[in-house]
Amino acid sequence: MGAIEVVLGDITRENVDAIVTAANESLLGGGGVDGAVHRAAGPRLAEAGAALAPCLPGRAVATPAFDLAPVRYVIHTVGPVWEGGDHGEDEVLARCYVNSLLVAEELGVESIAFPAIATGVYGFPLDRAAVVAADAVRSTPSTVGEIRLVAFDRETHDALRDALARPIGVRRGEEPPVDRQPG
Ligand code: ADP
Repeated sequence: MGAIEVVLGDITRENVDAIVTAANESLLGGGGVDGAVHRAAGPRLAEAGAALAPCLPGRAVATPAFDLAPVRYVIHTVGPVWEGGDHGEDEVLARCYVNSLLVAEELGVESIAFPAIATGVYGFPLDRAAVVAADAVRSTPSTVGEIRLVAFDRETHDALRDALARPIGVRRGEEPPVDRQPG
């Protein structure tokens, strides 16, 4: 596990080896963070994405970052569409983070920036997504030395910060299990 940092800002301004985008299965570009990444990287990003599509939820694929240089790679991952929480959404979201880190590692990436995948149009509740993100990056052994979780707004920033401050698996507003002493 690398150093994990929460930052507030526009992910397209991050000076890292790889930026992760919350794509849709077509990899042609969408709204939200994916729209911003495609605008910043230029039209070659959609061409490169189309050649690798479709990308199923939870998977991750890399393309060059084109006009985002010195960023080297865009890692496209597709989050789960929120359907109430009983449809494997947590597992799919965790796989987005884990698989993105695996792809980054294969490419020799030393620093990576993630957006808050699935918490926008895909509707994943923020606090729950923050815990999934924090736990996934903390529990994945990785050679990527620097991991930035980039929040576009203060609420997301605080949710991620709080999730990282808690033991793995504990949601905001919940108490960690109490260690009971016998007697
Ligand atoms: P999804 O479709 O996976 O829900 P969205 O792009 O709609 O993805 O939202 C994911 C998160 O990305 C949201 O917190 C949204 O505010 C944030 N976001 C939007 N634009 C940017 C940006 N330029 N940099 C970082 N985060 C962004």
